[in-house]
Amino acid sequence: MNRVGKMTPMLIQYFELKSQCPEAVLFFRMGDFYEVFGDDAERIAPILNIVLTSREKGDQSKINFCGVPHHSARSYWLKLLKKNFKIAVADQIGDTNAKGLVHREITRRLSPGCIDDLQALDADAPNYISAIYEEPSVKRWALCLADISTGELRVGELPSFEAALKSLEVFAPKELLCRRFFADEFKEAKSKFPGLATVLVGNLPESPLRDPRADCEVVKRLSTSTPGVDILKTVSGGKELLFSLFSYLKNLKVGLNAFRTLKPLKDPDNFQLPHNVVRDLEIFVTNTRKERKGSLFSEINSSLTPMGSRLLRWNLSNPSRNKSTITRRHDFVEQILEIGEQRLDDLRTSLRGFADLERLLAKTASKSICPPEFAILRSCCEQSERLEQNLAQLPPLKKASVFDPGDLAGIKGLASKLARTFADEISPLGAGEVFRRGFDAEFDRLVELARDSQQRIDAYQEGLRQKVNISSLKIKNHKSYGLLIEVTKTHMAKVPNSFVLRQTMVNCNRYTTVELQELAESIFSAKEQLVERERFLFQQFVVDILPDTKAAFATAEAIANFDMLLGFAHLASRKNYVRAHVDKSIALIKARHPSIEGAIGRHKFVANDICLSDQEKMMLITGPNMGGKSTAMRMVAVCAILNQCGAFVPAESAKLPIFDRVMTRVGACDDLSRGLSTFMVEMTETAQILSQATSNSLVILDEVGRGTSTEDGLAIASAVLENLVGKVCCWGFFATHYHELIPSAKLLAGVRLCQTGVIKNAKEIIFTHRLLDGYTTSSYGIDVATLAGIPSSVIERARDKLQERSRQKQSSCELEHAPAKPVDIELEESTSRCRESVRSQAAAFLHDGG
Ligand code: ATP
Repeated sequence: MNRVGKMTPMLIQYFELKSQCPEAVLFFRMGDFYEVFGDDAERIAPILNIVLTSREKGDQSKINFCGVPHHSARSYWLKLLKKNFKIAVADQIGDTNAKGLVHREITRRLSPGCIDDLQALDADAPNYISAIYEEPSVKRWALCLADISTGELRVGELPSFEAALKSLEVFAPKELLCRRFFADEFKEAKSKFPGLATVLVGNLPESPLRDPRADCEVVKRLSTSTPGVDILKTVSGGKELLFSLFSYLKNLKVGLNAFRTLKPLKDPDNFQLPHNVVRDLEIFVTNTRKERKGSLFSEINSSLTPMGSRLLRWNLSNPSRNKSTITRRHDFVEQILEIGEQRLDDLRTSLRGFADLERLLAKTASKSICPPEFAILRSCCEQSERLEQNLAQLPPLKKASVFDPGDLAGIKGLASKLARTFADEISPLGAGEVFRRGFDAEFDRLVELARDSQQRIDAYQEGLRQKVNISSLKIKNHKSYGLLIEVTKTHMAKVPNSFVLRQTMVNCNRYTTVELQELAESIFSAKEQLVERERFLFQQFVVDILPDTKAAFATAEAIANFDMLLGFAHLASRKNYVRAHVDKSIALIKARHPSIEGAIGRHKFVANDICLSDQEKMMLITGPNMGGKSTAMRMVAVCAILNQCGAFVPAESAKLPIFDRVMTRVGACDDLSRGLSTFMVEMTETAQILSQATSNSLVILDEVGRGTSTEDGLAIASAVLENLVGKVCCWGFFATHYHELIPSAKLLAGVRLCQTGVIKNAKEIIFTHRLLDGYTTSSYGIDVATLAGIPSSVIERARDKLQERSRQKQSSCELEHAPAKPVDIELEESTSRCRESVRSQAAAFLHDGG
């Protein structure tokens, strides 16, 4: 208290406001700058690359501060939001020229999960704020997910805390709100879930959770927004949770109108890929470098609009299991391909440069849109109209029930209102240049009045010149005094008494008159009225078009869908993807892995045939290290996901069942932050597969059991294989270096044995990457170690040890070796290619510090 007492009044005001938002960086308006003091300043100055300086605090000590110009403050805020900071903005309220301390209030609060600024958002990913609440009487967790930038709102119920966190991990929200007394628990728990590592934990407002008004209008409207489905009836505590989230958003001045429908967290027609599957299959980022480039999404995303990209992202992590949806999407892609490449390109051209219609509409609905953004929205309307015309010229898409061009019409009402209302060039509010002439008579009158001001000043100046006979007399606009009459010293004698002296300069004097004051007031008031009228009309317009905005969302959805599907057709045509026919077997002929093909080039990828039937649903793959086992298995999983998104697959021909889920256990990764060792992670993921997979699931298991002793690992691998084949009966691919598994696998009905090809001669080893029938009993690990650059002395020693061991085992090892079928790729080319591939990967690994 003493400390505060000694500070300057301005700093006392700063810290009082800061105490209202302790979790946020407070930007405090001072003249033309926003300033930040104390610890906050020290934290943000290096991030924003601005100078940290200090000033007198009032008690003879100094306080650090930094500042940014008010006109460019937004770009600094966006930078901080991207770095996960919360921001509060305190503005000057009332007369800023009045003497003494200016009154200031917090006018805006910004947080990473509540952004709708298009520049701050990732165009092809959602921006979720999530909230979670345990309904005390049922001990189940209600989870809600909201994206204010698109209006997406989902709610669901999870049986446990762990399940809720797992689900959240998949959605990767930017912010998570929970009850105050759970916050520490969540902060601790989130570190155990890699997908939640950067989430910002905040507090859910408490009182709405206990408030009977949880039946509030917005919640009621939303709970019946999907005809016939009251989702909230199935989620205990869902209403309270929504009500609490909404009051949090309202406090941040976020409009709620963008939320149009309430969707379930999980669509029963889709299956959600768990976080580890998204990671193992490198769906959105690569595993080693965590980069988008090289991921499945970046390889196959051919969408041209942000809406299309986001829809694709959603579908990739939530593939459909509804046969009819998948077939209708395939039909559509097929028909688009039939119209020919030229027409497909024309159609795609109509989508090029399409702005983010969905996010602009959400901004309109929540009233945070600014006038220049209406210019972008208007161009979306025009582009959508051109798309409609283009579509009208196509032969009718017979079986295209997945996309109805009629849905594009939803935007028409908005389009005509925008065309009628706004000027050709739409400036920000305040210049009187927002609305088209004729839109509002009063606005037009005020514009004329404001425009006339210079003419009226000129006319008054001319009249005065003649009246007082001073031809050099001028009326000038002075920064502090407003309009003043300027007369040079040579004409002083002619100045009439009606001129009131305001300023004496070296060469001239400046005056005012009663008439000039009246004129100045009338001009000022015309400009003020114009600004006010413009603001009023704008706000009115945004309210008036709410029904049109809501209707226009249908167009945004249609464009997203159309764009994604055109992207699938483009992909199929450019990269030779084919339609996979729904079948009871897997038959991928000359199939490729999209991202690896993209990385190494189409002609370098060795396409493989992968076939399983309902009599033989499990493939056990053996082969050398670097032989291509993981690649082949992941390729099947990726093809299955693409297929169930409605896309074609990279193969010469394809048949695939519709899987009810895709599950993986791939790679060795520990998770020390979760307190889990490599082996524990491996076993946890395997346990999940064993408990959740069904006979319609696709399961990929890569070297199960390798994280422990050979004996234990082999025993576990063998038992897992038996269980999956004999009990779960799922579709599966099981890669292993445990050759001892082969005899028992041969006895299991339903297992097909395959190996990846290798050619070894006296000089070298060649990985053909070709999948062949049979099995191998050698992993060629020492050969790979040689290629990776292990010193020759170590290699020699390893060979000795190997021979010694195999002599010991000779009598007990009865395995027969099934030789690989002859390999039909050109030896010379493949020799150098494979050698090169191994060497370059070893070099890259060493370079990365692996
Ligand atoms: P390990 O047993 O050591 O885990 P693996 O048999 O699983 O090895 P992969 O990781 O699948 O081998 O493949 C190793 C590398 O070989 C890949 O990174 C890729 O560059 C290349 N490769 C794999 N399959 C193919 C293919 N079909 N065509 C071309 N290159 C391939």
